[in-house]
Amino acid sequence: MSKIKQEDVNQVKIDMITTEAWLRNRTKVKESKCQNCSTKWVDVEGEVALVTRHRKPNVTVCRKCAQKFITGGAIDVNKAQKSRYEIKEELILEILELNPGAKRTGNYFSSMDLDSKDIESLTKQVTVLRAKRDKQLAIEEAIKRDFVETPTEQYLINEYQVFESEYLKHELQLEDYPFTDIDGLFDCGQVYATYEEELLVKIGNRFYDVTITVEVNSSKQDIGDRLYWVEGIESVTWERTEKPKPKEREYFSITGKYTKDQIEQIDNLLNSFK
Ligand SMILES: [Zn+2]
Repeated sequence: MSKIKQEDVNQVKIDMITTEAWLRNRTKVKESKCQNCSTKWVDVEGEVALVTRHRKPNVTVCRKCAQKFITGGAIDVNKAQKSRYEIKEELILEILELNPGAKRTGNYFSSMDLDSKDIESLTKQVTVLRAKRDKQLAIEEAIKRDFVETPTEQYLINEYQVFESEYLKHELQLEDYPFTDIDGLFDCGQVYATYEEELLVKIGNRFYDVTITVEVNSSKQDIGDRLYWVEGIESVTWERTEKPKPKEREYFSITGKYTKDQIEQIDNLLNSFK
């Protein structure tokens, strides 16, 4: 005779505890038998199953009854756990593939170990890594389509300080380019929290006006002035622009009477304008 209604059953944990261990600490009459078919535990070998129900107390049943509830549609906790394990394993394998730096275990920073993460956190990691991979693929595709290797005329460097990098082959890469690594571009010592630089960038046969904003931090030192450093890039914005033309030069002559020293000074001065 069944006492537990199938529709009340939520989950079934089929091998919760051995009947022997179960009986050791149970004194109530209802705990001495299957709460569904009333078979006494002393007459049953094996394990006691735990059944959780919707808005009703948990009950303990025999394996036969437990199996019946599972067949009737209840969640088999053991199976569900196994599939959670499988889900986790799949996520870990995908992360290891997408991020060669990732580690299962043994990382010095154990908080970064994949095995110690839960499914939710692994799912987040996978989502980020997939997006990164997709972006990378899109960039590679775009480079193949758009990049045209083009020599750089000297006047572009002399007159416009045009910037080029072998790692910059498409405008889609501008956003992530480490502009703060360019020597002298962001000299620190500024009092402002953020500041901005503009750069003419050449990529293949295309030119861009690029504006980079960085966040600057500072700290007081024991001795001397505050120390400033570039914390990181805040934003990179860009606009395509025409290839700049060589600047026209007008030439003038000067006449006058100068001493040898003055001529030398004028010469030095002119040289510094080159
Ligand atoms: Zn039973």
